[in-house]
Formats: sequence, structure tokens, C-alpha cells
Amino acid sequence: MFKAVLIQQQDERYTARLAQVDEADLPEGDVLVEVGYSTLNYKDALAITGKSPVVRHFPMVAGIDLAGTVIESDGTKFNVGDQVLLNGWGVGEKHWGGLAEKACLKSEWLIPLPQNLTPKQAMSIGTAGYTAMLCVNALEEQGITAKSGSILVTGANGGVGSFAVAILAKLGYRVMASTGRPAESEYLKALGAAEIIDRAQLSEKGKPLMKERWIGAVDSVGSHTLANVCAGTQYGGVVTACGLAQGLDFPATVAPFILRGITLKGIDSVMCPEAKRIQAWQRLAQTVDDGLLSAISSEITLDEVIPAATRLLNGEIRGRVVVKI
Ligand code: NDP
Repeated sequence: MFKAVLIQQQDERYTARLAQVDEADLPEGDVLVEVGYSTLNYKDALAITGKSPVVRHFPMVAGIDLAGTVIESDGTKFNVGDQVLLNGWGVGEKHWGGLAEKACLKSEWLIPLPQNLTPKQAMSIGTAGYTAMLCVNALEEQGITAKSGSILVTGANGGVGSFAVAILAKLGYRVMASTGRPAESEYLKALGAAEIIDRAQLSEKGKPLMKERWIGAVDSVGSHTLANVCAGTQYGGVVTACGLAQGLDFPATVAPFILRGITLKGIDSVMCPEAKRIQAWQRLAQTVDDGLLSAISSEITLDEVIPAATRLLNGEIRGRVVVKI
């Protein structure tokens, strides 16, 4: 038996609880991992609370990411004792996930833990930090550099936002941070934000084109915010869209695309090809240090996960939550 955050739905009743699960019930996979650390992501919070239909079948063990040690391996990619890392691939949605003492997984989903990261450091970064890095890489692939101009980060106090602010600042970019929590301005400035914007400036329906203020953006918010972010992007700029914290809709016009030639680049961390994952994680390992991780991440245990999920969705948690298993 092992401990896991188990989500069940019976007779329209949706429940999440810390349960003892039989190892014999683990799903199929060629690698058994002893989980060291996982995290509480926005998507995990949606799955645990049932606020969005993230979980595709029941019962489900929550947790879209994990870092741990291989304890059994039927494949050739990993050996017993190897330290591994997983983000996405539908784990915690369609396949039992990382908020558990053990996980049985397909080796093709796993990458080796980068050499200079511990499992705790990797999960302090987690899917949020990895997604922020994918956004930064995408901006640069589209030709943006630190000399191009300011980069706007929305949802700046969240997991993706905090990492985006910190990574961009570390790479020499001038960062504008949009937040609904101005009381956390000092935190954002400590991460490297040069300017703080009240998110109210962006969250209501705006004009098709607005004053050009940033050359690039990392948006984890969607909806009117993303439309306004595009409308305020300088000529030829690039917006990366990775989230929907405000909403799934995108009530925009084509004006910024056809009159200012801006690019909107979608970012998906879940099905991202292995080479891009490894590149993002290696860059994270070079960019992020312990001081930054302790500023952004707070640690909880498996039995604190379920109440923390509600607080995360209420916007009461700053930065990242790493879960010690
Ligand atoms: P968090 O909950 O940690 O952060 C979200 C932040 O968005 C909040 O801290 C808040 O920032 C802001 N926010 C929340 N509600 C609203 C609102 N109604 N209007 C405007 N801003 C709002 O989540 P994560 O950072 O982990 O994830 C952010 C988004 O990115 C989620 O939608 C998540 O699903 C998505 N995501 C997508 C991935 C992908 O592969 N594409 C991977 C990882 C995450 P503040 O208080 O500073 O305003």
C-alpha cells in the first residue's frame, strides 16, 4: 500500500482524499518511481477541487509532475536508482500522477533529472517554471533579445508568472509585471521586475490597438488580458500565451496582427517534444539558484495538499508550492 491524493466520482459526488492505495492497482507502465517531490499546480488544484473537468476517468491519483528515483524498470532507457523528472503527458489527468508515494509510468514520458538539480530543486521549479522557460525560449526563437525592449509578464505573482519574471530578469531583460496583488510589489521587484502594473489596466474589454508598451509578453491569464496584451505590444513584437487564469476566451481583434505584425505563440508544456523539454530544463538548471527557489517556493506535505488546492484557486498562494512526499 502507498499514500496518494485520490480523486473519485460516484453518483455525481466528486471527492478528493488522502488515501492508502494498493500497489496492485497502479496503472500500466515500464518504470516504477518512488516519488521524492511533486508540486501543486493550477491544473492540480482544478482536478482536486473538481472546478474544471481536468480528470478524464476515475479513480485518479492527482499530480501532473514529479521527481523521484526509479525502483523498478522493464525498459532500457532507465536503470534502477536513476533520478528522473516528469511533467505532463496527461499524468494526473488520464494516468495516475505524482501526488503519491509511488507512480508507474511510461519511460518515454520521463527525462533524466538534470545533473546539477536535486529532486527538491526540480520540483520547486515544477511545471510552472518549466512552462515559463518554454515561453522565454519561444520569445527568443522569434527573435526577441534583452535589447529588444521590455517584456510584460501577467499573473506575475503566480507560479508561471513568478518564474517568468525571475528568469527574464536574470537573462538581462527589463520586466514589467502585471498583478492584482500590488501588496506583493516588493516580492516582484526582488525577483527582478523593473515596473509593476495593476492588472485592472488589462483585465477589462479594451481597444483594438493601445499604446505600444512592450515588445514581448508571457501571458498566463488569457481572456481580455491576453487581448489587451496583444493590443499594447510594440510593432513586430511577440506574445506567448500559456494560461487561462482569467478565462479560456480570447475576445480580441486582428488589428495588432495585421497593423503591427505581432506574433502570438501558443505554449504547451504537456505534449512538448522531449528535445525541447531537455533544453528548457538544462537552461533552468543554469539560470535558477537556491536563493531564487526559496524566494518563490514554499513546501507542504502530502496531507496539506487538498486544503492548499482551494487556497491556490482563490489566489491566496504566492509563487510555487512544492510537495514533499
Ligand atoms: P497560479 O494560480 O499560481 O497563478 C495564476 C495567477 O494569475 C494568479 O497568481 C494571479 O496573479 C493571476 N490571476 C488569477 N486569477 C485572475 C483573474 N481572474 N484575472 C487576472 N489574473 C488572474 O497558476 P500557475 O502560474 O501555475 O498557472 C497559470 C496559468 O497557466 C493557469 O491557467 C495554468 O492552467 C496555465 N498553465 C499552462 C501550462 C501550459 O502547458 N500551457 C503549464 C502550466 C500552467 P496576480 O495575483 O499576480 O494577479
